[in-house]
Amino acid sequence: MDRQDWMHELANAACCARDFSRAFSTGQDYPDLGGLAARADLAAAHDLLPFLMPATLLSACQPVAGDPVLEQFLPRPTEIATSAAEHADPLDEGQHAISPRLIRQYPSRVVLRAGSACAAYCRFCFRRSMMDDASGFISDREIAMACTTLSRCEGIREILVSGGDPLVASDARLMHLLVSLRQALPAAVLRICSRVPIVLPARIDSSLLELFRNIGRIWFVVHINHPRELYPEAVAALRRISAADIPLLSQTVLLRGINDQADMLARLFGELVSLGIRPYYLFQGDLAAGTASFRVPLSQGLSIYAALRGILSGLELPRYAVDVPGGLGKAYLPEDIVGRTADGWQLASRSGRIGMYPEEA
Ligand code: SF4
Repeated sequence: MDRQDWMHELANAACCARDFSRAFSTGQDYPDLGGLAARADLAAAHDLLPFLMPATLLSACQPVAGDPVLEQFLPRPTEIATSAAEHADPLDEGQHAISPRLIRQYPSRVVLRAGSACAAYCRFCFRRSMMDDASGFISDREIAMACTTLSRCEGIREILVSGGDPLVASDARLMHLLVSLRQALPAAVLRICSRVPIVLPARIDSSLLELFRNIGRIWFVVHINHPRELYPEAVAALRRISAADIPLLSQTVLLRGINDQADMLARLFGELVSLGIRPYYLFQGDLAAGTASFRVPLSQGLSIYAALRGILSGLELPRYAVDVPGGLGKAYLPEDIVGRTADGWQLASRSGRIGMYPEEA
């Protein structure tokens, strides 16, 4: 596969109603697709998280309302409103920043926000208010600053390379970043958090895998939410990662109307294990501004997880986790629930601090 393939596909990804419509047109027309096409323009019209879908991802969608893949990326009118419980920075990452790109919420690991761009934008993204393209991919100067900070930190065993999606950067930029991180903390594991195997599978090409091999001690965490995301091109990309001896984990967000059924999630996790991918986290939705229509009530999430426990093996069952509002860190469900009030759930985070997550309708 040519390295240029993915760059060309990304540069030509659908970013407006006209592009979206053309992707499903059989002629020269621009079908309305029952109002779906117009939704693509909501993002620009209301200054929301951008709309972007590469051609391969579009090929995995049906142009109908409710399609579980399409609904994750096509803007919704409900995104315009922010509920009282929602925040621009729902994990309060700002309070844990140790340098402009580094977030240290736990003693043993640090998150590096490499950039603010993605190959496709998930409407429920918890960083959706921080996707400011102006900040771009991390610069040489910022890499040097981050590495200086890291080399002064004690006890960090893992660096989560996140974004946006770090893999939308060129191989050269990525190489400079990863080599610098490796030199700053030689013993640390690098955890690459990415959605590109699903949304832009051509990005998983031979030169990227060679880069990973040269860096070493990389774990790959793929974000995947529905069995339909395991379409042939995505599966082939995941197999290429496995074939390069890079351990694969998955993380999944529980999404209303998309994957909020135990049997469907069980199928997803079973298929992931059969591909050699360990389901790692099932996340309760974060309280990001404009994402209420995606969140599953926590009580329903607990019922779904209880059903999954009865269906899945230990290998197939991910941890059900929630980031406790207020920047308190993760809580595991149901074991970290310490109380219930009329408004919500009292949760003891891994740091031992107690916070509230609302029970929403
Ligand atoms: S790929 Fe990740 S960072 Fe990008 S929009 Fe989706 S959830 Fe957010």
